[in-house]
Amino acid sequence: MALCLKQVFAKDKTFRPRKRFEPGTQRFELYKKAQASLKSGLDLRSVVRLPPGENIEDWIAVHVVDFFNRINLIYGTMAERCSESSCPVMAGGPRYEYRWQDERQYRRPAKLSAPRYMALLMDWIEGLINDEDVFPTRVGVPFPKNFQQVCTKILTRLFRVFVHVYIHHFDSILSMGAEAHVNTCYKHFYYFIREFSLVDQRELEPLREMTERICH
Ligand SMILES: [Zn+2]
Repeated sequence: MALCLKQVFAKDKTFRPRKRFEPGTQRFELYKKAQASLKSGLDLRSVVRLPPGENIEDWIAVHVVDFFNRINLIYGTMAERCSESSCPVMAGGPRYEYRWQDERQYRRPAKLSAPRYMALLMDWIEGLINDEDVFPTRVGVPFPKNFQQVCTKILTRLFRVFVHVYIHHFDSILSMGAEAHVNTCYKHFYYFIREFSLVDQRELEPLREMTERICH
């Protein structure tokens, strides 16, 4: 029987959703709207479109946070199988290797294990989406000028989680009965980034064949 993802998540506090929208805020209303159209059975390609009258930055902010929470949980369910020994290098098959760079410890691109890369990646995103200067939550506070650029970087890095998980841990996805769940999340993510041209085409290359198969 398929293991319920919610049960898996509940057991692992490390991979809890790391940011929530506060009820009563404008952003929360938009989040609910996005969730409602998602559940209504509309096709994923159309649910990602900006609803009339909504602000594009709010729409992107809501999705970036939601995708971060969901992808973080997906990786969390297979994190036990993604170890220093199974994945000593953060890669997507033999052809793609990702190096980590940040403004703290790794100023130069560093070759790290997948679990280490993922931990840094999740912490880095969590820091940004909880930073009021980057993701303002108060009404009337504008988004920074480089907001879209920051989101592009976040989404580009989140895409790499899909690359690694699909290429290196597909057996785990299958054994957990999570294939449909992961595919739905991937498709939603893919349509979203394509709708707003947020991730460079080259980054999508490692999963191109699979994408052509499942996103049509
Ligand atoms: Zn791994």
